[in-house]
Amino acid sequence: MEKHEPERVVILGGGPAGLAAGKVLADHGRPCTVFEQDEAVGGLSRTHSYQGFLFDLGGHRFFTKKNELDQFLRALLADELIDVARSSKIYFRHRYFNYPPTLLNAFFGLGPITSAQILLTFLREKLRYQKPAIVTLEDWMVSQFGRAMYEIFFKTYTEKVWGIPCSQGSAIWAAQRIKGLSLLATLKEAVWPGTKDRPVSLIGSFKYPAHGIGRISERLAQEIRKHGEVRLNSRAAQILHDGRRVTGVRVQTRDRQSYDFPGGRFFSSIPVTELVQNFDPPAPPEVLEASQALRYRDLLIVVLLFDAERITQDTWIYIPDPEIPFGRLHEPTNWSPAMSPPGKTALVFEYFCFETDPIWKEPDGRLIEMTRESFRRIGLAPGAADRIIGGCVVRAKKAYPMHEIGHEQPLQILQEFVNRFGNLTLIGRYGTFIYNNIDHSIETGIQAAQNLLGARPAGTGAIPPDEYLEVKYE
Ligand SMILES: Cc1cc2nc3c(=O)[nH]c(=O)nc-3n(C[C@H](O)[C@H](O)[C@H](O)COP(=O)(O)OP(=O)(O)OC[C@H]3O[C@@H](n4cnc5c(N)ncnc54)[C@H](O)[C@@H]3O)c2cc1C
Repeated sequence: MEKHEPERVVILGGGPAGLAAGKVLADHGRPCTVFEQDEAVGGLSRTHSYQGFLFDLGGHRFFTKKNELDQFLRALLADELIDVARSSKIYFRHRYFNYPPTLLNAFFGLGPITSAQILLTFLREKLRYQKPAIVTLEDWMVSQFGRAMYEIFFKTYTEKVWGIPCSQGSAIWAAQRIKGLSLLATLKEAVWPGTKDRPVSLIGSFKYPAHGIGRISERLAQEIRKHGEVRLNSRAAQILHDGRRVTGVRVQTRDRQSYDFPGGRFFSSIPVTELVQNFDPPAPPEVLEASQALRYRDLLIVVLLFDAERITQDTWIYIPDPEIPFGRLHEPTNWSPAMSPPGKTALVFEYFCFETDPIWKEPDGRLIEMTRESFRRIGLAPGAADRIIGGCVVRAKKAYPMHEIGHEQPLQILQEFVNRFGNLTLIGRYGTFIYNNIDHSIETGIQAAQNLLGARPAGTGAIPPDEYLEVKYE
């Protein structure tokens, strides 16, 4: 074992959550060591670079309804932040619609019959005398949008993202992520744009670091290194413990070295399932069994590079069509011109899948060719496919924690097991198994560090569920 001061804080995972915790500790002169398995920090919020092009794993905007977090970000990135106007489209029946739909765009695009169906099925839900129980994702969406809108727009896209029928997804997902979004809110935004209580999904502009969302993590790591350390290519392979406290981690490096690292306190932002599976001595069988019951959705990114200034005008373009293999695309140059070399641009295509799907193992060249072909088919920019000058592929495992019906019980078993260890705190998207955003992840890290430093009263570590509601009252 390496020798360290007994109260050294060990942080597992160098994404926004782990790094935010480390920064708060470093600000207070408290030594900490972050272990990150990849060759760079950032996790899912990392900005990748290829041949001079920068891209996120699917465009990441920073948005928070909390002033403290907003200030945290501004202090960290200062003049690197730019304002990006949000403009999204959705591809439906071989045409592109604004998202959220403007009244005229939807009426003329969908035609009077479909528009009337949308309105009538929505009214039927709103006027129901007895409201049905909301258990599944489908229940929630039908109640908010009416059945026609759900089937036309939301069902196909949501099922593409999750890979399961909406009837098997838990309504908790929607309650956490898109609460406040409804046909009524969308119509209100179409008629009176910019009302104060609009849901986040409809917010008109957001902050973005000029060189990609990964700058948040890079800056956090810089701050940590003033008093602590960030070890890259270092996987927490085993969690060593004495039954009551975690005593250290067995670290495995890329070059296959292995060493034990002791610590006094541990924050973990790595997937909670993997954490408990790697306890040494092993966790009890019922805990290991529960860890197998929780699933993740994986993400495959294909980037096409173009010898062209711009291809689209939008921040995101959604492709629910089941005939097209990717689900969403964005053009990083629209977010910040600094993301591409002068005169060039790129498109980033998101394929939602499981790592066990055949597509995961397709060779990169085949994926790039398939993406080029599908890009032609969606008719977004006729002729642009002829200006493709290259491409690359990134595979991101465990991109989304899956909130399937019944996931609460195994999750609770894992949480109760971890709670037995007084010096281990779960943080971040994967520590908490909550489908959260960067701001929430950062917040869990900050709170864990502040609790440890005694800067906030004990017991305030967990973010209450209603904090996840995505409506910002300014
Ligand atoms: C396609 C997509 C789009 C998104 N868009 C947005 C958006 O627009 N806005 C927004 O706010 N959020 C967005 N998010 C969510 C955002 O990416 C996450 O909320 C955020 O990155 C979570 O931070 P984290 O630190 O909790 O986890 P992560 O970013 O996952 O970081 C965890 C880190 O732990 C490391 N790790 C895992 N296992 C080990 C191990 N055994 N040892 C050492 N290290 C390990 C990983 O390599 C990773 O670096 C999006 C996510 C996806 C997938």
